[in-house]
Amino acid sequence: MTWITDIQAIGWDLDGTLYRPGTIPLNIVYERQLKAVVDVKGWDPGHARSELERMYEQLGSYTKSLTALGIDGEAFFTQLWDELPLGSFLKTDKELVALFHRLPNYRHFVLSNSNRVDQIEQKLRLLGLDPGGFEFLLATVNMGAVKPDARPFLAALERLGPEFEAQPERVLYVGDRLETDVVGAHRVGMKAALVWGECEAADIGFEPCMSWRISY
Ligand SMILES: [Mg+2]
Repeated sequence: MTWITDIQAIGWDLDGTLYRPGTIPLNIVYERQLKAVVDVKGWDPGHARSELERMYEQLGSYTKSLTALGIDGEAFFTQLWDELPLGSFLKTDKELVALFHRLPNYRHFVLSNSNRVDQIEQKLRLLGLDPGGFEFLLATVNMGAVKPDARPFLAALERLGPEFEAQPERVLYVGDRLETDVVGAHRVGMKAALVWGECEAADIGFEPCMSWRISY
């Protein structure tokens, strides 16, 4: 695994990666999505659920799935984050803070679907991280494309500079979803890590609050 020594930049997904999936209760988030589909389509909840899941299997993100079902997925999630009491769910995570202290020699950035930049900043602060510690925070809102599309990842490479556009394998993207994060990163040639578990399709597994599961 010699490529790991060539990594110079680390891109982070936010939701479900810098905090565990379920920290913001999944049932709240999922039920809101179902309700939106029911309201727009007039379907019963069971049909709405099966269609939402079918779309997710095809498209690899709930943001895209909602949009395909006639709901602006980015607007849905940004409104949801505004409405939920995020401060009662997201708390300072000392191990996460310590993790970043152990990774000072990388250029760090956040690339997130379905958050405005100010919402990314708010969530980072709640987790105990300084938004200014990241070189840039990239929100797909208004980008016209969301992960796993290539465009957000290409935008990140552009921000990192021509040397990274030429050698995207020097970037490690860390996320919690195979379909959204790993597939998207690989689409542009970045390396990908999947958190919270092993995944053959990712290049490495990664425990954000513990340690790299590899040595180098
Ligand atoms: Mg995520």
